[in-house]
Amino acid sequence: MKSADCPVCDGLVELDEKTVTGELIECRDYGTELEVVELDPPKVEEAPQEEEDWGQ
Ligand SMILES: [Zn+2]
Repeated sequence: MKSADCPVCDGLVELDEKTVTGELIECRDYGTELEVVELDPPKVEEAPQEEEDWGQ
């Protein structure tokens, strides 16, 4: 099982063997949505939260 460091909570997020780049996965902490940006080595970034209002 691959795993990557969560940039939000510094925890480990597990990647499924079938996970591909660009896939959205959920961190276990607060249900943070993460996007897989690299697979070797595995790296994830926080996905944009569409429901939040960035205009403020
Ligand atoms: Zn996290």
